[in-house]
Amino acid sequence: DAAGLDAFDNHERVWHGRDTVRGLNAIVAIHNTALGPGLGGTRVWPHETFEAALTDVLRLSRGMTFKSAIAGMDFGGGKALIIANSKTDKTPALLEAYAEMLAALDGQYYTGEDVGFTVADADFLRARTPNVTGTTVGGSGNPSPVTAHGVFLGVKAALKHRGIDRLEGVHVAVQGLGSVGWTLCEKLAAEGARLTVTDIDDARIRQAVEAFGATGVATDAILPVPAQVFAPCALGGVLSAETIPALGAKIVAGAANNQLARHEDARLLMERGVLYAPDYVINAGGLLNVAAELAPGGYDRDATMEKVAKIPDTLADIFRRAEEQNRPTNDIASEIADERIAARR
Ligand code: NAD
Repeated sequence: DAAGLDAFDNHERVWHGRDTVRGLNAIVAIHNTALGPGLGGTRVWPHETFEAALTDVLRLSRGMTFKSAIAGMDFGGGKALIIANSKTDKTPALLEAYAEMLAALDGQYYTGEDVGFTVADADFLRARTPNVTGTTVGGSGNPSPVTAHGVFLGVKAALKHRGIDRLEGVHVAVQGLGSVGWTLCEKLAAEGARLTVTDIDDARIRQAVEAFGATGVATDAILPVPAQVFAPCALGGVLSAETIPALGAKIVAGAANNQLARHEDARLLMERGVLYAPDYVINAGGLLNVAAELAPGGYDRDATMEKVAKIPDTLADIFRRAEEQNRPTNDIASEIADERIAARR
């Protein structure tokens, strides 16, 4: 479909792994390895069609190429998707089969956590194949808090670009209260931000109302909330030609991958005066964290957090250049990433 077409962007390799006995139906997509082996998490999601799953994983792996390049890392773009319900289908047998698939890829792809794939799952795989990051044993653990920290700094950078120097009283609408969204709320609330939140899980909303004094709304009511910042922290594709006219906030800064249905949708945001923090720039913290495990000296948390602290500088530069050139922020971001990849080639 039209929304997925730009996902098919010269991927180097795409593997389809099936094990009907153990219930595995997985795709590993390597987009680009000019800067190094593919690195990106495994998503477990019950897509209704194979095409929907393929589109998702191709877009995600492409995003990882840009994310690595712009964060100055020596890794390429890769991502995996297991077509399954993470709550009911993710059996040890399925994960065993997936570990065998990863081992067979032999260092071309390193994985880690994503939606539906936990640190416990990473540990399970790591005991069976070396190409797994984000593990507790010999690894850096859950990358989500680091992602959330980077997003938090990114929200502040976007506000700063708009002349707002403090979070006190700033209204943020958060979509998705999972690993990243929840930690982001904690950080925002700690500095006095006012939160409106949603999740498909009502219990999470109730917890956020209690923990942060947040206002809870239904999932279809979050986009129009007249907040200063909209922070998408659920799944991708939330901003499209259909939904953007309803957006209440003037800043979009959140963790979700592939927030835009199409790359060109950033222009619609720009035309409406919305400042968009490109997703793969603002949410690079988790990738920086897991990539550090693969560094020659092993994981160094301080060095990693120094790199995460540069995310707001990169964003500020992108915002400034976008404004000067009157171009969408994601055009500037992809240009910077392309330049880094081309320079290496
Ligand atoms: P998660 O699975 O822990 O949380 C996702 C949350 O979104 C869940 O609570 C889920 O119930 C909710 N949700 C799903 N659909 C929704 C909808 N339509 N409306 C509202 N809520 C909905 O995942 P996460 O690790 O917190 O990641 C969130 C997003 O950030 C994903 O897009 C992920 O790819 C991206 N991301 C995560 C990391 C990381 O380190 N975890 C890094 C980079 C990017």
